[in-house]
Amino acid sequence: MSSRLDDTHDPSLKSWVASANTPTAEFPIQNLPHGVFRERGGRGVWRGGVAIGDRVLDLAAIPPDIFEAPTVTVALRAASASTLNGYLALGRRYWSALRQALSLGLREGSKHQAVLTKALLGQHDVEMRLPTAVGDYTDFYTSIHHATNVGKLFRPDNPLLPNYRWVPIGYHGRSSSLAVSGESIRRPQGQTLAPGAEAPTVGPSKRIDHELELGLFIGPGNERGAPVSIENADDQMFGLCLLNDWSARDLQAWEYQPLGPFLAKSFATTISPWIVTMDALEPFRAPFERDAGEPQPLPYLDSPENRERGAIDLKLEVYLLTKSMRDQGKDPARISTANFAKSAYWTLAQLVTHHTVNGCNLQPGDLLGTGTQSGSAPGEEGSLLELTRGGKEPIELPGGEKRIFLEDGDTIIFKGWCERPGVARIGFGEVAATILPA
Ligand code: CA
Repeated sequence: MSSRLDDTHDPSLKSWVASANTPTAEFPIQNLPHGVFRERGGRGVWRGGVAIGDRVLDLAAIPPDIFEAPTVTVALRAASASTLNGYLALGRRYWSALRQALSLGLREGSKHQAVLTKALLGQHDVEMRLPTAVGDYTDFYTSIHHATNVGKLFRPDNPLLPNYRWVPIGYHGRSSSLAVSGESIRRPQGQTLAPGAEAPTVGPSKRIDHELELGLFIGPGNERGAPVSIENADDQMFGLCLLNDWSARDLQAWEYQPLGPFLAKSFATTISPWIVTMDALEPFRAPFERDAGEPQPLPYLDSPENRERGAIDLKLEVYLLTKSMRDQGKDPARISTANFAKSAYWTLAQLVTHHTVNGCNLQPGDLLGTGTQSGSAPGEEGSLLELTRGGKEPIELPGGEKRIFLEDGDTIIFKGWCERPGVARIGFGEVAATILPA
């Protein structure tokens, strides 16, 4: 495991960008996440950047000849494009080479400081968009606690279906309605069946919910008919973002049988703008473990490496800010927490391998959602559906407001970070979005 760590993970590294060196910095020099930005207000062209402290390193503004290695030059050009699909297609050798070059260039004492300084912008002065043109978006269901909690509400007599412990359950989502943090979400309309009613009506959803998830960006992809083995799955994984799979629970309850999620999910999915790379997450890999009594994965979903380092020790938080709280200048209230290593029944590598076992082809820039990350304890529920026990027990916010589901003007914020003794903390930033009236 230690062989994959290199000097870019050294916790003692400091950057000449001072804001990257504070203990709570989301984007220290050990992180270096990728995104696509332009100057705020629509000035400038969309182009690739890397976050460092509270700055963005404009990759398109770096003279290509300052790095001598051809691999780095090719990677730099691809990573500075208006979408990162071409960069993700290049593969790990190029990703790691660019990470190494940028780490060297941003370190204290770098000979490139003067030229790279000219390529820095403030994060407050830029706007972000989706980092890739997402061809396909698939959403999984990897938390057994979430699956059990939701199953109890929808099917009290049969909460966890027997296939759950064998198949990484997923469905094909809608990439066209992906949005980036900061874009507001219009409350959807749709068909619902009121309790006791004989016929459905159409109107605004009354049960808008969040789902706390991570998104995995796919790298080079595979040919149709050529599954990705679990041994090769890591090579397909570029990095992670935070993902909010907005859900209309009343639409969902009426439509989800027999074919699964449809309009209850497809109106919007919001992601954080910076992709934290798997290279940056390397120090936070953790063993993949199943509780005693749980079946072991079938052989195609099992490998020594997946057992040793398949999980990721990643902390997650959900905050809610109501309109009234915002008007009074209050801080968002934390309503739940989770840890990806503990909540997920399947690893990212298992998702990639299972997705392709039938020959389905993944393409560069595709997005896989992990499914809602709920833990086993109270306070670790990754959706309001679970926090309120199916809408029966409202949560109370500081100041006395209560919520069952989201009201117009409510903002949901996810945060995520990794920390471990002896390792530099890295963060994901946040994904935030506000519900607008129908
Ligand atoms: Ca979901």
